[in-house]
Amino acid sequence: MTTYFARPTLPGPAALVLATLLLTGCVSGAAYEGSPAAGTTPEARAEQPGTAGRDAEEPGAEEPGEGPGEDPDAESAAEPAAPPSIDLTKHSATDPASPWVVVNKHAPIDPVDHEPELTTVRGYLVRPDAAPDLTAFLEAADADGVHLTLRSAYRGYPKQAEVYAGWVAQLGAAEADEVSARPGYSEHQTGLAVDVGSTTRPECDFDPCFGETVEGRWVTEHAEAFGFLVRYTPGNAVVTGYGPEAWHLRWVGRDLAKYMRDTGATTLEEVFDVPGGGYVR
Ligand SMILES: [Zn+2]
Repeated sequence: MTTYFARPTLPGPAALVLATLLLTGCVSGAAYEGSPAAGTTPEARAEQPGTAGRDAEEPGAEEPGEGPGEDPDAESAAEPAAPPSIDLTKHSATDPASPWVVVNKHAPIDPVDHEPELTTVRGYLVRPDAAPDLTAFLEAADADGVHLTLRSAYRGYPKQAEVYAGWVAQLGAAEADEVSARPGYSEHQTGLAVDVGSTTRPECDFDPCFGETVEGRWVTEHAEAFGFLVRYTPGNAVVTGYGPEAWHLRWVGRDLAKYMRDTGATTLEEVFDVPGGGYVR
């Protein structure tokens, strides 16, 4: 956010429009066209020579022929605050094995019964690529005297079917869709999402008051530094299709989390130009 809004020549609203155009226009379009590279795993693509590394931040990195760090467009702008650079095509937004897969009420996991690779963090199943950041995140909280619990992590298709059916029985289908994903539509099935809880006020777990707990405030402040998004916030429900869940964290990796913080984007839907909102009925 700071990068755009610090530009002295643009007033706030104009800067916001610019940021929005960049996010929903050329950047995300390019990302989408290049997304599912046939026969290439995200890991393999990440290792290709010439692909920007996870921490690469040079603005000119995407054009090797242009000379070191030079961007013709940047010259005319003559502004020091260039947009943060990240290769948004580095990982697929549709492959369920990708760390950047977008899963929402319009974008189910495909294939619907996909089962990820899994490992264990504090007794909960998560994807191996998310595990180091999750461990570091929980340990950093502990070091600050804030003790988070894990309440849920990977849920396979059959488990999600059971959870969703429970909500439907309790609330009816319409209300169940507001609080629980249908099977095949849950980020938890990717192994990249966790729900965290409070040790000081466990009665707030899975409740809006979690955000007010000492643990919830720590999560809000520090999740991004460890590659996690608080995926469902009060401001982005229209885009994500879910009400705010201060406890639901989605791992995307530190480079994308930082990019989103720097650009002010709060949803993967904006970044990768994926439709969101409620179910298509
Ligand atoms: Zn969750």
